[in-house]
Amino acid sequence: MKTYSCWLDTLENSLSAPKTELPEQTDLTIIGAGITGLTTGIFTAKAGVNVTIIEKNQVGYGASTRNGGQTLAGLKLSPGALLKQYGKEKAVTFYRETLKAIDGLEQFLKEHNIDCDFNRAGGLWAACTPGHYQGFASAQTLLKDVYQHETHLIPPQNLREELGTNYYHGGLLDPLSGGLNPARYVQGLMGVALESGVKIVEKTEVVGVSRQGTGFAVDTSQGRIVTNKIAVATNGYTPDFLRAIRRRIIPIGSYIIATEQLDESTAKELIINNRLVFDSKKYLHYFRVYDRRLIFGGRASYVEIDPILSAKRMIPQMHAIFPQLQKVKIEYSWVGYVGFTFDQMPHLGQMGDIYYSMGYCGHGVANAFHFGRNLADLILEKPTDFPFLNLKTPTIPLYYNYPWFLPIAGAWYKLKDFLAH
Ligand SMILES: Cc1cc2nc3c(=O)[nH]c(=O)nc-3n(C[C@H](O)[C@H](O)[C@H](O)COP(=O)(O)OP(=O)(O)OC[C@H]3O[C@@H](n4cnc5c(N)ncnc54)[C@H](O)[C@@H]3O)c2cc1C
Repeated sequence: MKTYSCWLDTLENSLSAPKTELPEQTDLTIIGAGITGLTTGIFTAKAGVNVTIIEKNQVGYGASTRNGGQTLAGLKLSPGALLKQYGKEKAVTFYRETLKAIDGLEQFLKEHNIDCDFNRAGGLWAACTPGHYQGFASAQTLLKDVYQHETHLIPPQNLREELGTNYYHGGLLDPLSGGLNPARYVQGLMGVALESGVKIVEKTEVVGVSRQGTGFAVDTSQGRIVTNKIAVATNGYTPDFLRAIRRRIIPIGSYIIATEQLDESTAKELIINNRLVFDSKKYLHYFRVYDRRLIFGGRASYVEIDPILSAKRMIPQMHAIFPQLQKVKIEYSWVGYVGFTFDQMPHLGQMGDIYYSMGYCGHGVANAFHFGRNLADLILEKPTDFPFLNLKTPTIPLYYNYPWFLPIAGAWYKLKDFLAH
């Protein structure tokens, strides 16, 4: 079994930038070359800024090439929770930004001829219990009446027209959501960044940042770079030395397995209309078929485990939903860190003069692009009314880097799932 993301094997050329030495000076230093860092780099460089992105590993090493590739409308907080927390006006504004994110991404991919199999095949939220399905009916009404967003309920008796399983109790289909191939997407972003003049320095770890005059000195494993501005785009991989940001982001392991290539008819029968599927459990599963493989993700553990062990835990979960895959081989298993926040909202702004964007809570494939672009506007000092700008970003006492509370939260969520069944 391969213990890296199956997306990487869909690339013709490896996902790595041409070798570049660390410059001595730059206008803007971005830490991290995922979707956020590359997008911020593209839009600042296009405006004439001299940009250097420093990446500890290689382009896309973090969550950006390890994800499920689902471009979903909405945020981690459900439409109901968003409304309760922020009131109608703000909730609608937040939600509509996520639709803008998918539209903006679609347009960008077209403009730059990035072939990453972007589609709008629809996002399907699958109900794990009849009670969850009733909740979907209220969500649909709320989405229509408050958010002016049209979705379609799929009653339990019709779900077989969508999924080759009896596991679920109905669904809610969002026709504006879809998916893409994450590795090709990131490779496309890297290409545009390089064309726009961004320098990408890989295999270089940023180890410290200090004030120098009106700018900063950035210390790395390859020496020092002096810069006017810094943007942090490390999300679920944020290092400890960025203490203020690190205390506000919670890296949570998400685990994916991918089957061998299935025969045409089995692949077609699993997800009939090629939807991007996620279910209603707290310990949720998300899956799709790509290139005749079922790509099946979930939370195998709240503490860090390796991909061999996670596969052992994920396989029975996949079989519970798709028993017809009992004899199918698992070819890939991998893990990545999702950047969560304590309020389950994404955040963008400045902390101590350092720009940052993070915390998409598992909804970053399109949003990290949208936030990266808005972060560029902020850095360029363009007037902006981006609603997520400088939202209060909470943390909790005694949290510095080790998320000691996750096993407790995980046990609580598991219990809730058990009781719902
Ligand atoms: C398994 C999994 C499945 C997911 N599925 C989905 C999905 O289907 N749909 C969806 O919308 N979202 C999904 N997500 C979330 C989505 O992938 C992320 O929100 C998004 O990729 C975040 O991109 P980013 O650029 O902010 O961070 P990342 O891609 O994580 O990039 C951070 C980068 O910072 C670098 N870095 C860290 N420290 C340093 C340092 N000291 N010096 C230099 N570089 C450093 C890292 O090496 C890394 O490359 C998923 C995430 C995971 C892990």
